[in-house]
Amino acid sequence: MAEKQQPAIGIDLGTTYSCVGVWHQGRVEIIANDQGNRTTPSCVAFTDKERHVGDAAKNQMGMNPTNTIFTVKRLIGRRFWDPSVQSDIKLWPFAVVEGPAGKPQVVVKHKGEEKKFYPEEISSMILTKMKEIAQTYLECPVKNAVVTVPAYFNDAQRRATKDAGLIAGLNVMRIMDEPTAAAVAYGFDKASSNSAEKKVFIFDLGGGTFDVSLISVKNGVFEVKATAGDTHLGGEDFDDRLVNYFIAEFKRKYNKDITKSPRSLGRLRSACETAKRNLSFLAQTTVEVNSLYEGIDLCSRISQARFEELNMDLFTKCMEIVEKCLKDACTDKASVDVVVLVGGSTRIPKVRELLNNYFDGKQLSRGINPDEAVAYGATVQAAHLSGQGSREVQDLVLLDVTPLSLGIEIVGGVMSVVVPRNITIPTNKVQDYTTTYDYQTDVCFRVFEGERAQTKDNYRLGEFSLRGIAPALRGVPKFDVCFDIDANGILNVSAQDRSSGQKNKITVINEETRLSDEVIEKIIQDAERYRVQDKECRKSYEAKNTLERYVYRMRNAMRNNSITSTLPFMTKMAIEEAVRETFVWVDGNQFPDVSESESRLEQLKRICAPIDHI
Ligand code: AMP
Repeated sequence: MAEKQQPAIGIDLGTTYSCVGVWHQGRVEIIANDQGNRTTPSCVAFTDKERHVGDAAKNQMGMNPTNTIFTVKRLIGRRFWDPSVQSDIKLWPFAVVEGPAGKPQVVVKHKGEEKKFYPEEISSMILTKMKEIAQTYLECPVKNAVVTVPAYFNDAQRRATKDAGLIAGLNVMRIMDEPTAAAVAYGFDKASSNSAEKKVFIFDLGGGTFDVSLISVKNGVFEVKATAGDTHLGGEDFDDRLVNYFIAEFKRKYNKDITKSPRSLGRLRSACETAKRNLSFLAQTTVEVNSLYEGIDLCSRISQARFEELNMDLFTKCMEIVEKCLKDACTDKASVDVVVLVGGSTRIPKVRELLNNYFDGKQLSRGINPDEAVAYGATVQAAHLSGQGSREVQDLVLLDVTPLSLGIEIVGGVMSVVVPRNITIPTNKVQDYTTTYDYQTDVCFRVFEGERAQTKDNYRLGEFSLRGIAPALRGVPKFDVCFDIDANGILNVSAQDRSSGQKNKITVINEETRLSDEVIEKIIQDAERYRVQDKECRKSYEAKNTLERYVYRMRNAMRNNSITSTLPFMTKMAIEEAVRETFVWVDGNQFPDVSESESRLEQLKRICAPIDHI
């Protein structure tokens, strides 16, 4: 089947929750998971027997904190020694180590063995779960997807997310920016009418990332004017502040250090997240954790004012980013038509208050569901790219921008910008460079991303060389360096020696942080193995469940006097004994072989045949 006719889904791969939608019967359908929830925790857990993804993983977190992985979006595309990774891992109950090529890997115990996973692998497990939710709903295989990322994600983070999709067996048709998706959710129906241009300001504060974008919406064209953000600012940070607050309080009161126990840390974090949510509606709340550490309970109160005080610098940072975005867009705040709130953390009253004050009392739009808006927009884009949906969907035009400036290092470690930030993508920019000394035959191009004047303060994407240049005086040779950014915001750089006319080096940037093709291939094979194991696990539970259901039915039948009174004594004894034995076996076998459960069921059915018809 052609890509265009296959169903295509939109996935919001969030730091704390993920959400999936599909274009179905003429509209966007946000799909509920097997628990009936429309968002699924971005959480993966490993136990002695099996692997859980989503609600099942989150629900067992308290019992299995060191093997329950959450917030992996904060690791994706980053290096282990990145300061943000180092500060995060201090408060996580699971371990993170430095893997090959300086990439972080989470460490878990699974089926009695220590296993290490790259962030891309964990993200792929979440994407697979979202794909399966859609497949169950649509009752057909799904391959094509649009996956969203924070607008402020850099090249490495975008590529890593795309790789996660690949490992999950998805054809990632587009990596879409989250605020743009939210703008589509807000303005989709309004955009189709012949209305005047609207300047929509998207304020997206989620679990782990913060993004703002100013987007102009007119006649189905969504044009991003500017974007700004912080890929490490969100609800998790507010939780961290509370966790640190209670760690200090516990130390002060009992002279005990909770951080020594991953289990205590995990339980405290979950209590703090609940408290934070409560403080969006209550002036104060109680945080209670029984036997938190060495048998000592935590029972404390925290007020909304204290919570705000603990996070005020982070909230202020959000407002500074809002200002930067408007400045970049050369737009006065008074000309913004609507401010749209996206992401769970926009429920925090102080955040709303600061934003409302900043926009001089402008009403903040609550017309869209902040938890589903991104998936909604991604689904519209998926329908557009797969040739489905209404005429409005097909006429949709999305013009995104580069979030960060991109350039080359020149003499003195100076950043020479080739593509300034907030340029509409896809784009292609060429700049010429020359040699720095006489008779130079090799030139090394170091590519960076960021806004600082010195490359040492920016993020290094990678480097490549042009070799065999004809010797000449400094400044004579000319090289065209071409930066090509695709619609996903992913960069490719090439350089051409003008004298030879040969485009002899085309190098994909970020080889350094990207998983190699061989590693990806191996991970895909591992993913398939996990899928088979999960299937076996499910089959085992189903077979055991069938046996259990049957034995309960037989036990209940045996409690009915009108049935048992007609049975010969020996038959009654045999049934009672078989039922009792089956219960003992069921209790003692958590994870039996399917064949064993089935043969027990058959045996039990033979013995219970005289009462089975009842
Ligand atoms: P998202 O990434 O958009 O799913 O947002 C998830 C984040 O929103 C998590 O950090 C949640 O703790 C946070 N969140 C959800 N509801 C609330 C609430 N009522 N008050 C404060 N934060 C919330």
